[in-house]
Amino acid sequence: MIQSVELLRLIRRFGRLAEPPPAPPAPPAPGEGADASFVPPRALRGSAQCRHVDVGSCNGCEVEIGQSFGPVYDADRYGVRLVASPRHADVLLVTGVVTHNMADALTRTVEATPEPRVVVAVGDCAIDGGLLAGGFGVRGTVADLTRVDLTVPGCPPEPDAIVAALRRVTGR
Ligand code: SF4
Repeated sequence: MIQSVELLRLIRRFGRLAEPPPAPPAPPAPGEGADASFVPPRALRGSAQCRHVDVGSCNGCEVEIGQSFGPVYDADRYGVRLVASPRHADVLLVTGVVTHNMADALTRTVEATPEPRVVVAVGDCAIDGGLLAGGFGVRGTVADLTRVDLTVPGCPPEPDAIVAALRRVTGR
């Protein structure tokens, strides 16, 4: 208890000791890139809850998403939090090419996520099949099964790019 009081006293005295965040990324100009027409839902301005769904990835994209929410890239400071259920989520981060085994699970997860929802395809596999396109276990891309609002290309994409996409949702 004494330690908690001391901690609160220090927080009050020194405030937030962190570098100011970099300026929000500029959205792509009209006609420039697949996501240029994306308009973030007003309800998600400032804060969005995020559920990750792996539908057949190699785990490389998961490592980068983990970094995005770690202490260095710290997506939380832009108002994005990871949650454990699609029913609590506003944003779905979908990784991997859609396998037959995960196709129904993806559809059900999207249906369980309330509107206004934003679906982000993270990594080349999710966007166009990437290295795994045409594999025997592959149903298709994420866009073959649901509406995709934002894409983060790369194999795997860097945390900076993942965080930039999430910042477009929250506007922070
Ligand atoms: S885009 Fe690359 S890193 Fe991501 S799941 Fe596909 S192969 Fe793995």
